[in-house]
Amino acid sequence: MHQPATTPRPSLYFPYQVHAPWLPPTGAALPPAGVVVCGAGPAGLVTALELARHGVASVVLSAELQVSPGSRAIVFTRRTLEILQQMGVADRLLAAGLPWRSGNSFYRGQRVFRMEAPHDDDDRFGPMLNIQQPFLEQYLLEACAATGLVQLRWGNKLSGLAQHADAVVLTVDTPIGAYTQQAAWLVAADGGRSAIRSALGVPMEGASYEGNFVIADIRIDLPLPTERLAYFDPPWNPGNTVLMHREPLGIWRVDYQLPPGESPEDALQPDALRARIDAQLAMIGHAGTPWQLDWSSVYSARTLTLPHYLNGRVLFAGDAAHLLPIFGVRGANTAFQDAQALGWQLAMVAKGLAGPALLQNYSAERVGAAREIIDEAGKSTRFMAPPSRGFRLLRDAVLSLSLTQDFVRPLFHWRTSRPHAYSRSALNSTADDDGQFHAGPACGAPPQNVRLGADDFLLDHIGAGFHLLVFGTAPIAAPVLQVVQAARARGVPLRVLAIGAAQPLPGADGTLADADGRARLRYGLPASGGAYLLRPDQHVCARWLTLDAGRLQAALHAALPSATVTALPA
Ligand SMILES: Cc1cc2nc3c(=O)[nH]c(=O)nc-3n(C[C@H](O)[C@H](O)[C@H](O)COP(=O)(O)OP(=O)(O)OC[C@H]3O[C@@H](n4cnc5c(N)ncnc54)[C@H](O)[C@@H]3O)c2cc1C
Repeated sequence: MHQPATTPRPSLYFPYQVHAPWLPPTGAALPPAGVVVCGAGPAGLVTALELARHGVASVVLSAELQVSPGSRAIVFTRRTLEILQQMGVADRLLAAGLPWRSGNSFYRGQRVFRMEAPHDDDDRFGPMLNIQQPFLEQYLLEACAATGLVQLRWGNKLSGLAQHADAVVLTVDTPIGAYTQQAAWLVAADGGRSAIRSALGVPMEGASYEGNFVIADIRIDLPLPTERLAYFDPPWNPGNTVLMHREPLGIWRVDYQLPPGESPEDALQPDALRARIDAQLAMIGHAGTPWQLDWSSVYSARTLTLPHYLNGRVLFAGDAAHLLPIFGVRGANTAFQDAQALGWQLAMVAKGLAGPALLQNYSAERVGAAREIIDEAGKSTRFMAPPSRGFRLLRDAVLSLSLTQDFVRPLFHWRTSRPHAYSRSALNSTADDDGQFHAGPACGAPPQNVRLGADDFLLDHIGAGFHLLVFGTAPIAAPVLQVVQAARARGVPLRVLAIGAAQPLPGADGTLADADGRARLRYGLPASGGAYLLRPDQHVCARWLTLDAGRLQAALHAALPSATVTALPA
């Protein structure tokens, strides 16, 4: 029988709550579920929330009775906040988290580089926000509960599955008994050690790097700003790398590379941890400052992905689909993008608005994203923990030369998580004007936010579903509105936002003033206007200098493959 921990996890800052395990009432016939999500981490919870935004109910299985142990993911990017704004939790994260945008790198005790992450006036969110993963999971759980469409089953461990043509049959083990559950679709969001991946026997592709890092969270009062601190080859840890990050509630993460050959067990011994953390504090001028250990773990970098995220009726997302190094804050930040992409595409298929080709598209797009991230993350990992003498020589040459030579500094690069552009997506319209634009987000790209007022941004006005952004002051043509109505009549969630008119435009669901043409220019459009079609994950799938009904219909067709978009009236 499955026996998850029943006492709250120890923490200096997070009040863990232990939930009661779920089991169906004895004798009750359990109805088949449309979607079962296995895993209540960032990937599983955001998938469930995105499904709910499209009116699709789901069951979420959590093997544990409480949220994640330790801080785990602590750095969240602007794109993550844009996604979580859609899920209704960004404000809570902003209220509790620590924003930052700069980093200092030191080599043998001397500062060699200071970086500022890009940020402009059109961004609602800063480039980075630090907050511990348990808070994030708690906010997501509360958002799930508020939908009324997500059933969280605590202490439910998926222990077996059988795939059939039209359903997956799951065996679920709990501390109070076992049961079976049928589902039309199973989302495998069960983390890095995915039991579903093992059960299906699907191997991952990529590399695992040697070199272990200790991750230690300590409570300490350090009068330092919130920024990323990286120490290469520090005197107390020669040849290795140390990172430090401030977390909310007086917690600091100290992340240090171990000398080759040292085992994780030895490294986590209290005396070994204390000696190294004291040495790091002494090196940064805070010897003797009292501190208390909250959590520690050992980590090694891997850049692995499944080659396909769709296997029969099982869809992989998050760490179950790929394992990414934490350098560049890619794990959870990538999981949110998977989950948002999966949520809307699975919802469209579950509602019969698109065929299974849309799920193939999810797999192709997100595997493409993972491969791009792996390429980038491999570069970061080779810099942080050089895997061979050659890489170490190169890295040390860059670091030592940068003490005196300015030309070397551009070789430093943040390489932090950024959203992937689905440039080759099958959902992109082929009959639009994408190639004629000189600015603005291209087909497949994530959206460009635009400041519309002191506390008003374009993305604040984007909700669930497709959005047709019509720029300019001209009335929206009647045939265009007919295509919109016909799509809606079929159940396609499609909103029309007019941008630039002083008065509400007939047929638009909302009209946003753009008196100085700022939004129009950021979207690369002339004064005469034009239009963009955004998918439900806000990525662009078509853009036009001049919109007509036929091309809008073609774009909707491309974005919802196998769905029949009602023909234009003759
Ligand atoms: C030390 C550390 C530091 C990190 N720092 C960062 C960072 O700064 N930024 C960043 O973006 N990422 C970071 N990450 C990575 C990040 O934590 C993960 O990428 C993220 O949690 C992945 O989310 P997930 O939902 O895919 O998986 P998980 O968070 O692992 O969630 C998996 C869920 O599945 C459940 N589960 C597992 N098996 C079963 C089963 N058989 N039945 C039912 N439920 C099951 C688990 O209980 C859990 O709820 C860090 C990770 C670690 C370990």
